[in-house]
Amino acid sequence: MQARCGLIFELIEQFSPLDLAEEWDNCGIQVGDPNRPVDRVLLALDMDEEVLLEALDRGAGLVVTHHPFIFKGIRQIREDRQPGKLLAEIIRAGITVYSAHTNLDSARGGVNAVLAERLGLTGIRVLRPSNEKYLKLVVFVPPERAEAVREALAGAGAGSIGNYSDCSFMLKGTGAFLPLEGTNPYTGSAGKLERVEEIRLETIIPARMAGSAVKAMLAAHPYEEVAYDLYPLENKAADSGLGRVGRLKKALTLEQFTARVKESLDLRAIRRGGSGSRQISTVAVCGGSGGDFWPLAQSAGADLLVTGDIGYHAARDMLAAGLSFIDAGHYGTERVVLEALAGYLGEGCRKKGIDLDIVVSGVNGEPFEYIY
Ligand SMILES: [Zn+2]
Repeated sequence: MQARCGLIFELIEQFSPLDLAEEWDNCGIQVGDPNRPVDRVLLALDMDEEVLLEALDRGAGLVVTHHPFIFKGIRQIREDRQPGKLLAEIIRAGITVYSAHTNLDSARGGVNAVLAERLGLTGIRVLRPSNEKYLKLVVFVPPERAEAVREALAGAGAGSIGNYSDCSFMLKGTGAFLPLEGTNPYTGSAGKLERVEEIRLETIIPARMAGSAVKAMLAAHPYEEVAYDLYPLENKAADSGLGRVGRLKKALTLEQFTARVKESLDLRAIRRGGSGSRQISTVAVCGGSGGDFWPLAQSAGADLLVTGDIGYHAARDMLAAGLSFIDAGHYGTERVVLEALAGYLGEGCRKKGIDLDIVVSGVNGEPFEYIY
């Protein structure tokens, strides 16, 4: 089946829900038409003239970037200067551009999660949990249908907590109801107060999934009038948010861990602060510009923060606070997500029977050149 761009957006948003984006961000479609058919998608960190040429060369009708192409308000589109020139070229070429930015940073398998795994961290926790809202769904079911309703809810994604899925709780009790005139009750008869054994089934769902979970629950429930409640929760997301912190299987010196960072992120050069002989066992990571995250890294017990774009003052503050750091670059700490996103999209398309070629950009998007 040939895909429409909009179908690919839906897949990306299942992986990195828009709710996870920071308030100031501009994630989602940037340019184009979600109804356009698409055979090939190009994944890149940024949209620029080179990436546009690559998309045209490789026949990719959709470009998915990490950084939003349109970020601030546009007051004019002047074709004699950027970004108007590029925008006009994209529109003329009929290319659609979509961005998954801070929602991809915070996603369960997003930038920070991939970075933490690449560096060999274990027992990975989120440094700054997302503001994702959760609900408690409680439904009353006759015992013989409780398992079917539980399965339907789990199938709709309810009850996922951290690395566990299908989490729910059941409690037996007595329900009472009076079917009124004109009803067709599952048990009992109109005009007679009924007392029946029921199961109170409860589970947790992200608020954005409430609609589909309730729909799946209602479809599996035998009652004409289903009694269910949705309660708002104060729970914080345990597995989505910015930054990650984890432990090394075996403590390494900063010198040894520096070599691991260079090799696993395929970098020629990095910047570092702290003594090379220091023992490192707990590491915090934040893809992109994460220098401001250092107090969070320190309070999470990290010996070292790996991020990009560390400024002079943040570097001095970290050293004064006893936190070592590695600046592996904005580009260097984020590009690892492209392969992960490609893998996820490939899997999603296979499951849905969508024919889509997924290619990761070969353009070197690193704006810095290192001179030795
Ligand atoms: Zn970035």
